[in-house]
Amino acid sequence: MLNHVDVVIVGAGLSGLAAGWELRKHGKSFAILEAQNRIGGRILTTTHQNSIIDLGAQWVSPFQPRIQALLEFFQIKTIPSYKKGKTIYDLHNRRMLSSTNTPPISAQGTLDLFLARRKIHQLTKLIKKEGIFQSSLLRKYDALTMDSWIDRQMFSKYGKAFFRIFTEELSSLELSEFSFLNFLWFTQAAGGMDPILTAEDMWIKNGAHTLPLRMAKVMHDHIYLNQPVRKIEWQDTGATVHTDTRSWNSKKVIVATPPAFSAKIQYDPPLPALREQLCQRVGQGAIIKSIIVYHTPFWREEGLSGSSYYDCGPIRATMDSSTPGQPHGVLTALIGGKYARRLGTLSQGERRKEIITCIAHLFGNKALEPIAVYEKDWAEDPWSRGGYAAHFATGVISEYGPALTKPVGPIHWAGTETANEWRLYMEGAIESGERAAKETLKKMSTEGV
Ligand SMILES: Cc1cc2nc3c(=O)[nH]c(=O)nc-3n(C[C@H](O)[C@H](O)[C@H](O)COP(=O)(O)OP(=O)(O)OC[C@H]3O[C@@H](n4cnc5c(N)ncnc54)[C@H](O)[C@@H]3O)c2cc1C
Repeated sequence: MLNHVDVVIVGAGLSGLAAGWELRKHGKSFAILEAQNRIGGRILTTTHQNSIIDLGAQWVSPFQPRIQALLEFFQIKTIPSYKKGKTIYDLHNRRMLSSTNTPPISAQGTLDLFLARRKIHQLTKLIKKEGIFQSSLLRKYDALTMDSWIDRQMFSKYGKAFFRIFTEELSSLELSEFSFLNFLWFTQAAGGMDPILTAEDMWIKNGAHTLPLRMAKVMHDHIYLNQPVRKIEWQDTGATVHTDTRSWNSKKVIVATPPAFSAKIQYDPPLPALREQLCQRVGQGAIIKSIIVYHTPFWREEGLSGSSYYDCGPIRATMDSSTPGQPHGVLTALIGGKYARRLGTLSQGERRKEIITCIAHLFGNKALEPIAVYEKDWAEDPWSRGGYAAHFATGVISEYGPALTKPVGPIHWAGTETANEWRLYMEGAIESGERAAKETLKKMSTEGV
């Protein structure tokens, strides 16, 4: 059966849904083809009784205008993240408590962190001014790993230790796995270090999945589940998109998946070499999100916020994700990079034991008795194969970067990895979907089709 639409969108994650949302506003016909039996991609919510458990994306910032506008449109409420009480900083086996978002380390360490932030702030301003691919920093900083930059530029033991955990938690990778330029680009896209520090300020009432579900409800006539796209035959005037059971003819295609997944599709004719080679070099990070449920948020009684940073065990960071109005205490633990890869090879029992032991190290023996544990290893998810998102190793942005968003004939690229603003966040997914849809609208208008 051959269907005809103006635009086929591959993937019903937030970026694919945002692309459809934009096309819908302009009265275009479109089909969103999703490989899985659910929409949302890297957004996945479940519940423990009435407590919300976000296994994928969760937090939003007040400085993310697109997602805030959509939440307002659907009248979806947000919940401020629980920040009362002290944060635990467990660095080099030294436990410190602080009510601020920086560790209570020596004046030298604090100065070190301040100077690092200031340098990054200045460099991101320059990238914004010059544009990432034209930037005078392009080659110099794309050749340097994040790890090397911290080693060379920072001078204090505890300043370095905190900045390492902070950037590991942000990236879900080892710091040797991505370039310093990649980090600068990510930071610049969020508007700088200060906005990034607000990225976990609030979360979505009833879970992050509420937003894609509400968008999908409005567009349900356009969404086809269990339709993994296998092949795209294309020419300048249009494309035929094939799944296992159906085919669609369209004027334009938006591939709204991570770059690694765009490369699993067969293209006829093949994509330009630069695009292909970019995708050969861009993999996802590694993250296990573990949500531990207790009878009560016992840490609050001890004056703790539930937030922690830890550099000696598998858990890099925790946060209190208890649903207001519910009795349970819910701690979110993030395990990334090499720890996620190692824990991913353990049995469920062994993995939980390590995680709970680590939580007990941070929060005391009461943490040894959870009433439930929910976890998702995103590297095991066949349609994500990692998380939070793709970062670029040294040399990739400078050599292959422009191919990330450059359309190929009628094919346009979306997905949070292609975003200009808040790349790698849900906000970036929305921005990228809107941008790709606008590209197709403009082209269809100039081509008169
Ligand atoms: C554990 C975790 C925590 C996170 N926390 C946050 C957070 O707190 N805040 C935040 O803003 N962001 C967070 N993120 C990142 C956020 O989830 C992503 O930025 C965003 O959801 C990406 O959306 P997307 O549409 O670009 O990609 P995806 O969500 O990956 O969507 C792509 C879709 O394409 C489908 N697909 C792939 N290949 C094909 C094919 N061949 N045919 C058809 N369909 C296909 C997939 O099944 C998927 O549904 C987190 C991510 C993870 C994994």
